[in-house]
Amino acid sequence: MDAARWEWRRSAYDDRVHAFPAEDRASLIEALCAHTVPYAKAARTHSGLRCVSCLLIVGDALAVHSPGPVDNTVDGPR
Ligand SMILES: [Zn+2]
Repeated sequence: MDAARWEWRRSAYDDRVHAFPAEDRASLIEALCAHTVPYAKAARTHSGLRCVSCLLIVGDALAVHSPGPVDNTVDGPR
């Protein structure tokens, strides 16, 4: 999943800001957490309470897509 292809939209159904696929323009759109809402009732905004499920799913995906693992090896005595 491409981490850059999400839009945060506030659902008028539960007043939570969910992450929706950016290219999704169907009449009924589905958030990452499986919350579905009519496109017309999902305002594109970052204001409001964010959906924790969507946050966690996006966070996991961002971690996977981050550039390489952190190198924690100790390179000899200093
Ligand atoms: Zn959600």
